[in-house]
Amino acid sequence: MTDRPDRNGLSADELAAELRVFLAEHHPGRTPPATVPTAAAERLAFQRTWQATLFDHGWAAPGWPRRWGGMGLPLRLQAVHHREMALARTPVAPSRIGYIVGPSLLAYGTEAQLERFLRPLIRTDELWCQGFSEPDAGSDLASLRTRAVLDGDVYRVTGRKVWTSGAQFADWMLCLARTGPAGSGAAGITALALDMHAPGVNARPLRDMTGGAHFAEVELDDVRVPVAYRVGDENAGWAVARATLGHERSTSLASAGMRYRRVTGDLLELAQRRGRTDDPYDRDALARAVTDARLLEWSGQRVLGRVLEGGEPGPLASVIRLQHALFEQGLHELATDLLGPHAALAASEAHLAAGGKQDGAWLRGFLRTRASTIGAGTAEIQRTTIADKVLGLREVGR
Ligand SMILES: Cc1cc2nc3c(=O)[nH]c(=O)nc-3n(C[C@H](O)[C@H](O)[C@H](O)COP(=O)(O)OP(=O)(O)OC[C@H]3O[C@@H](n4cnc5c(N)ncnc54)[C@H](O)[C@@H]3O)c2cc1C
Repeated sequence: MTDRPDRNGLSADELAAELRVFLAEHHPGRTPPATVPTAAAERLAFQRTWQATLFDHGWAAPGWPRRWGGMGLPLRLQAVHHREMALARTPVAPSRIGYIVGPSLLAYGTEAQLERFLRPLIRTDELWCQGFSEPDAGSDLASLRTRAVLDGDVYRVTGRKVWTSGAQFADWMLCLARTGPAGSGAAGITALALDMHAPGVNARPLRDMTGGAHFAEVELDDVRVPVAYRVGDENAGWAVARATLGHERSTSLASAGMRYRRVTGDLLELAQRRGRTDDPYDRDALARAVTDARLLEWSGQRVLGRVLEGGEPGPLASVIRLQHALFEQGLHELATDLLGPHAALAASEAHLAAGGKQDGAWLRGFLRTRASTIGAGTAEIQRTTIADKVLGLREVGR
């Protein structure tokens, strides 16, 4: 895969120019809401086609090693990549979980696993889900009970996962299972790459208040996982989980700041159309949204920089996750406030003239982001981590 174009030596302007040429040829201008299918399966197919196009032209995974199909760009060029994509309103990557699992595979996977999994992961030929949470193990993840028993050259896995994003569409699950004795906590957990098409896997979609089914409940009944698909050592899965959660809370959000800069632009337009830019309270809320989007972008750069220097995101990830969750909730609250009753209306001329998005995207975003302070660890857990590990308040209290 080293025959892929190497854009490492380009200047920021040269990279932006090359990317714009590619986008002009392959991306039909901004992706208007009306052209993005709203049905989940069709939307996914649409996003996967785009991701494959990016990969085939050497424009996917800007920060990942070139050896596995990424671009291996330095941070300053990654930022250019994210900015141009956001400005062109390209489809959102369908593989957020893949981009969370990927760094953990890179850190803990065997050479054979990297060879097997990374290319189809980046191209989204195969989708991944993250099987951590269970009905009685969310914030207290170390109490999980799904069991993996070694039997020759396979682990036999039995248990139940819940709130597993995209499990109904996934080909692989990064699954945490207990290999140590009951009650062994974090020290008895192993990470496995589990084939979602294997006998004994049953994923049932769970409908949420947006009307869609973002996640699923997954039953694992004596599922056989080859030992060769164990990620890291037996009983050493906690380190894999921590690395994965670190990326979920931070680097996977790296491009979000850029995209949200664009979305706040939409919000300002909406405020203008609704005649809501003179009131001091509205102006204050709008200024805050613009400022927070910029802060989010800088935080993303900061954590990416740390990872590129060879580190893991660490507790800083909790700062970014919390910042991101509160920002996107506030943004959509403001948008629905500006729209008033129009937020809830489907396409109509009056509705569009009032600044509604054709497919009710602001309202859907409002409903979807209620979960932002729960997923990837609740806001309470993030605040505790920040207090403890970033600010050192536990030490201060002693
Ligand atoms: C949209 C969405 C997508 C998700 N996707 C995935 C996924 O793909 N894979 C996956 O494995 N999981 C996923 N999850 C699950 C998510 O990680 C858990 O919901 C989360 O960790 C909280 O766990 P819980 O639901 O069991 O709540 P609990 O841990 O039972 O918490 C309930 C409440 O108690 C509070 N609480 C608990 N412990 C403490 C404490 N020590 N101090 C202070 N307050 C505390 C919590 O903050 C919360 O308010 C997803 C969740 C959502 C909402």
